[in-house]
Amino acid sequence: MVEYYIPTWDEIEEDVFQIAEKIANEKFVPDVIIAILTGGVIPAKLFSDIFGIKTLRYIEIKFYRGVNKTDAKPVVKAVYVNDVENKKILIVDDVADSGETLEAVTNVIAMFNPSLIRTATIYVKPWSRKYPDYYSKIIDKWIIFPWDKWDVVRENKDAPVKNKERFLELHNSIKK
Ligand code: 5GP
Ligand code: MG
Ligand code: MG
Repeated sequence: MVEYYIPTWDEIEEDVFQIAEKIANEKFVPDVIIAILTGGVIPAKLFSDIFGIKTLRYIEIKFYRGVNKTDAKPVVKAVYVNDVENKKILIVDDVADSGETLEAVTNVIAMFNPSLIRTATIYVKPWSRKYPDYYSKIIDKWIIFPWDKWDVVRENKDAPVKNKERFLELHNSIKK
């Protein structure tokens, strides 16, 4: 049985506030927030509203985990980024697990020659090789976020979430 950690929206709101307070205390004001698609989009939107930062950019990256773990590598699918040269950047994702995604995205964004890059995720796994500069909690379970619960249900029909049957019925009736 997989063990899940299932934060509520209220918990996520609290976690995002705590991270934002840490960032504000350090007087770090990013010019641009870059969301890692797709799990980083909602957290990035929340940070952008708290900081009043209008410039949101995106990077799509997939981390294919092969049968043999050493073969796994992140593949950059699309980079929706411009005008970050000499800018202060905050890269945002929902969680860092191995840390590979965050590391790869940081390396890609560094090539745009920003003046500063910092990273934030809501949670981090204890075994991550790259810890984000800002996070709220260390979690050693598979996390189900409100925005990606259907992703999890597609993989595991036993995931303990609400509206599963409704999702599966509709999803299976319309998927190609
Ligand atoms: P990493 O590259 O650090 O191993 O994995 C990070 C990416 O995998 C994140 O962008 C996130 O979308 C996904 N991921 C890793 N662990 C979890 C988890 O526990 N729950 C969810 N929902 N996504 C995860
Ligand atoms: Mg995901
Ligand atoms: Mg992701």
